[in-house]
Amino acid sequence: MDFSEKVVLVTGGSRGIGAATVKVITSSGGSVVVHYGSNQDAAEKLRSDIGHDSCHLVRADLGDAGAASGLWSDALQWKGKIDVVVNNAGVFLTEDRTGPDEAWRELWLRTLQINLISAADLSREAINHWLHAKVGGSIVNVASRAAFRGDSPDHWSYAASKGAMVSLTKTLARAYSGNGIYTYGVAPGFVLTDMAQSEFDHDPTLRQRLINEIPYGEIAPAEEIANAICFFASGLATHATGQTLDVNGASYVR
Ligand code: NAP
Repeated sequence: MDFSEKVVLVTGGSRGIGAATVKVITSSGGSVVVHYGSNQDAAEKLRSDIGHDSCHLVRADLGDAGAASGLWSDALQWKGKIDVVVNNAGVFLTEDRTGPDEAWRELWLRTLQINLISAADLSREAINHWLHAKVGGSIVNVASRAAFRGDSPDHWSYAASKGAMVSLTKTLARAYSGNGIYTYGVAPGFVLTDMAQSEFDHDPTLRQRLINEIPYGEIAPAEEIANAICFFASGLATHATGQTLDVNGASYVR
C-alpha cells in the first residue's frame, strides 16, 4: 500500500486500532492527523515515535456535540488537505437495564454521540469540503461484528450505534461515489486493545470463553484491523464503496 502524498485523519488514533492504523499509514509514506480524546501522553508518544513531519495531533472530546467541526478545521490547517477520514474513535459502555431512567438515557446518548453522531458530523465536514473543492476523498467507518450479530444484554446501545455506522456507510457510498468520494466500513470481532482488556479485567474467564467462540482460535491483533482499514483507505478497491468488511476470525460469518 502506498500512502505517499496522502493525508489521513484518524479519530481515536492515540490507542488500540487507531494507533495501529496510524503506524501502517506512516510506514507506507503517508501523513496522519492523530485525533485523541483524553490520552495526551499516548498521543505524544506515538508522535515522537513517528516524527513530527508526518504526524500531527489534534485533541477533541467527541462526547461534546459540535466537536467535529473544530476537529476538521484544525486537521485541515496542518497540510491544507485531508484525503481520507477514518472514523475509529469509540466507546463500549455497559448499561444497567434495571437502573435509573436518567442513567440509562445518558448512557445511550453518550454512546450514540461518540460512536455514531461524531462520525456523521465529521463525514459531513469532509464531504462538504471535498464537494466544494471538487476533489475526491475516502471515509472508512469502524463498525463492529455487533452491527450484524447484536451484542450482550448489557450493550444494546453499542450494537445499535454500530449497526447505524453500517447504514451510514451505505448511504454515503450511494450518495457521493459519483463525486469520487468513497465510503467503506470495517467490522471487527473481538480485538486485543484496552477496550477488550477492560472487559477481561472485570471477568477473568471471559477471554477463554471468547476464544472458544472464535473458529480461528485467537482474538485478533489490532494490526489486522488496521491493515483492513488501510486497504480501503489506500484507494486500491474503490469499487468496494459501501461495503463493510468483516474481520472476526469466522466468529460470525454473514
Ligand atoms: P480503545 O483502545 O479503547 O481506543 C479508543 C479510542 O477512541 C482512543 O483513542 C480514545 O481516545 C478514543 N475515544 C474514546 N472516547 C472518546 C471521546 N469521548 N472523544 C475523543 N476520543 C475518544 O478502542 P479500540 O479497541 O481501539 O476501538 C477502536 C474502534 O474499534 C471503536 O470504534 C470500537 O468500537 C471498534 N471495535 C473494537 C473492538 C474491540 O474488541 N476492541 C471490536 C469491534 C469494534 P483517548 O484514549 O485519547 O481518550
